[in-house]
Formats: sequence, C-alpha cells, structure tokens
Amino acid sequence: MVHLGQVATDKEIEDKSNVNVGVQELGIDDSASGQFSTSVYGSRYAAFDLPRHEMPEDEMPKEIAYRMIKDDLTLDGTPTLNLASFVTTYMEEEAEKLMVEAFNKNFIDYEEYPQSADIQNRCVSMIARLFNIPAHDANTNAMGTSTIGSSEAIMLAMLAMKKRWQNKRKAEGKDISKPNIIMNSAVQVCWEKAARYFEVEERYVYCTKDRFVIDPEEAVNLIDENTVGICSILGTTYTGQYEDTKAINDLLVAKKIDVPIHVDAASGGFVAPFVCPQLVWDFRLEKVVSINVSGHKYGLVYPGVGWVVWRDPEFLPKELIFNINYLGADQASFTLNFSRGASQVIGQYYQLIRLGKKGYRSIMLNLTRTADYLAASVQKMGFLLLSETRGRGLPLVAFRLNPALGHKFDEFAVAHHLRERGWVVPAYTMAPHSEGMKMMRVVVREDFSRSRCDALISDIQMAVDELSKMDEKKLELQKEHMKQRARRGGKGGGKGTNSHYADESHSLKGKHKKTHAVC
Ligand SMILES: *Cc1c(COP(=O)(O)O)cnc(C)c1O
Repeated sequence: MVHLGQVATDKEIEDKSNVNVGVQELGIDDSASGQFSTSVYGSRYAAFDLPRHEMPEDEMPKEIAYRMIKDDLTLDGTPTLNLASFVTTYMEEEAEKLMVEAFNKNFIDYEEYPQSADIQNRCVSMIARLFNIPAHDANTNAMGTSTIGSSEAIMLAMLAMKKRWQNKRKAEGKDISKPNIIMNSAVQVCWEKAARYFEVEERYVYCTKDRFVIDPEEAVNLIDENTVGICSILGTTYTGQYEDTKAINDLLVAKKIDVPIHVDAASGGFVAPFVCPQLVWDFRLEKVVSINVSGHKYGLVYPGVGWVVWRDPEFLPKELIFNINYLGADQASFTLNFSRGASQVIGQYYQLIRLGKKGYRSIMLNLTRTADYLAASVQKMGFLLLSETRGRGLPLVAFRLNPALGHKFDEFAVAHHLRERGWVVPAYTMAPHSEGMKMMRVVVREDFSRSRCDALISDIQMAVDELSKMDEKKLELQKEHMKQRARRGGKGGGKGTNSHYADESHSLKGKHKKTHAVC
C-alpha cells in the first residue's frame, strides 16, 4: 500500500497503474462516507493517464473525476479566441440558468412538457414572421420545427423537396429514380451529406477565381425534369456573401419553371433581417419554399439548435410528419432524431424575447461595425479583402495575401503564428475551381469586442513582420514543423477517426484539400 510521503517501489507504481487495483490500496478511502483521504493531485489518479479504452472497474471520487477531466480539457482552445466558428460562445447568466434548469427535460416528451413544446411553436412563429411568411390563419402555427442545427434542418428540407418531387412525378406516371439538387460548390458540407445520405445527385455551379457565390443563370440552366430544388445561401461559409436568391427566383418565374428554392440562411437568417432589411431573400419571393437558420450561430444560443420553416404545408409532404399526442392535441414531429434536450429551445426563446428586434439589431450592427474596422485594418496591412463590408454580407472578414507583394510565406504560416498567440484563425483553400486560392477568415461574433479586435490586429501585424524577416530556410523549417504538428494531432496519439477512413476523397472538401474545417 502506498502512503502519502512514502517513496513507492517500482512494483507498487506498476500496481498503481493497474486499473483493477482497488482505491483503498492506494491510500484513498472510498468507504461509505464517500471521503477520500488525499488531495486531488496527491491521489493515484494524478500520477497516471486517464482511462482511454476500457471502462475502469472501479469508481473514482467525484472531485477527482471533475478535476482530471477539467484539466484534460484545458488543452482545447479558448472558445472566445476561436475566430473560426460562427457558433455562439456567450450567453447571459439568466439564459444559462434557464438552460441548466431544463437539462433534465427530454424535449420530445410533449405530454410531460407541453410548455416546452409550446415554446418551440412560439419560436417557429416568430422566426417564420421574421422571414416574412405569407399571412396565414392566425390560429394555425407556421410549419416548422427546431432541430439540432442547420444540418438536420437542411436534411429535412432536402427530404421534403425530394418527396414532393416524387409525388408529383408519380402522379404523372414518370420515373422517380434520379432526383438531383442544384447548389454552389461552396456549400457547407451538410449539403453534400444530405445529398449522399438521401440519394439525391449533386449538381454544382462552380466558383471561379473571382466569383464565390452561385451564378443564378447557370443554376437555372442546370435544371431538368429531375431537379427537386435549388439551394441558395444567405451568407456562404467562405466569404459570408449573400447569394442572389431574388435573381434565381425571378428567372424561375420568367421561365415558368416549377422548381422550388430552399434558402440556407444558417448564418444570415439572424443578420440580414436586422442589418440589411431591404434585401429581398426570404418568403417574399414566391419560389422560396423553405428556409433554415442555425439558432446557435447569430441566433445567439449555445449549440445545438437549428430551425427550419416551410412556406406552406403543401411543401412539407404528409409522409414526413408523425403526430404525437399531447394534452389532447396533436403536435407534429418531423425530426431525424427522437430524444433531445429542451434547453436549447428554451435558450432561443429567452434570446428572442429578451433582446427583441431592437436588441438583435444593436448587436448585429455592432458586429458589422467591428467587421468593417477589421477589414479596413487588414487592407491597410496589404491584404486583399474577399468579403463584403457595410452589412452587405455576414459580419466576417475573409482576406488573403496580395500576390503582387511577393511574400515567401502563405496564409497557413500566418494562421500558424496567430495560433501560437492563442487565436484560432483558419486558413483554407477556396472552394473548387477557384484555382487553389488560399484565404483566411475571421468570424466576428457577439463576444468579439472592439478591444479584442485591436489585439488581433496587432498580432496579425506582428505575425506578418516576423514572417517577412524569415529567410527561405527558416520558412521551410517552419512548414515542416506545422506539418508534423498537424500529423501528430491530439495528445497521446489520439487519432481523430479510425484510420480506415483517413483517405476520404469523395467529398468536395476531401477532394480539394480544404485544410481547415470551416463551419
Ligand atoms: C453552419 C452552416 C451550416 C451547418 O449548420 P449547423 O448548424 O452547424 O448544422 C449549413 N450551411 C451554412 C451556410 C452554414 O454556415
């Protein structure tokens, strides 16, 4: 038995590493009192790695489990310094409190938690109206649902478009085996997933070296009798630009083509209505039949919550709906999963009524100002700007090195330098057919204040200055170092996925070497 203050023999240390050794033998009293007789870092647990593969036989004291896992997580990046992601990293304490209090509610149990279900319906109505859903009977709820995020929302929208197309074709006695969907090659990966999972052929409008949004004409020209719909993005993940949904709509109307548009407003859905109300992109356009938005992006809720709304029940075929009875009324259910927490829906309702339109507008305008300030600053440093300013796109800054300046380093090297200061600013290669153009992107979120923005600006300047001073040999060394770090991945050789799938090359991203996850 190893006591505190006593030097352990090799054998004892070996025994200690055996997960089967009872904690009593190690000077930890885990008797009924639940007390343990040593400090967290004096315990055996602190001396060994956390269990990785096999569930341990024995229990461990809760204080130790908490501390050890918390310590393990400190190697994660700091969420507020993560400028790669759109996903919310700040909520008010009151919102957090409400969400924690709802942790033990299973959202799908409508009968037990009718109030939570009703709160979802209120959110759906508010969001549908924000997107200018055509006036409908005040007593009927807008057709829509909360989801885990935009990915699930998009899968549901894809299924609805596919089913509706199939029903139409079947009624005409036509073949239903080859559905296709038209979209920009800069779509978020969930569109590729949805298409593959539900067997819909992907038809891409490719980006060019100076057009990163869909070309409406080209999109409409790709339509044939098997097209289930067109996806238009309100705020692409690469450059944050809003695609011209109106132009697609108007072409469809002019050519009398009966193909619906789904707007992927994952990021833009809670930005454009406040910053750019004159932009017509939503249900005001007759061909727009469904819209998704991520509650956990500019909806300002912690992950994961998303929303999808349909213009009219006509566009959400009955086959996809399951009615669950609660308090004598039917609540329609059409999600991919069943059980989930209620917290996120409640958090969304809090934000909608706490902030109101005025609150969202103030926040989104501030973000737009910060993004403009950052955009002007990187341009002053000599970078080329790829994103919009003045609220014409999402509050993000996408930029690249100016090739005319003949830098010997690339965007990945700049990102690497920033990483060493704690900033996560992704560098990546632009969507296919844009000639392998590299770029960096900073997402401006609610908690990215002006002073933090100033700190980032001086760190970008410092990174560029340092890299400019390096000779080729040093830059080569650094590249090697970056490669090794990427290869090493997580701590303790913890590989991301099974190596069996390491060479994935079927997706646009897999094929075109997108080197940093962009979400
Ligand atoms: C983030 C994003 C998605 C995926 O949304 P999740 O909420 O993360 O599932 C889809 N499309 C676009 C344009 C996005 O920005």
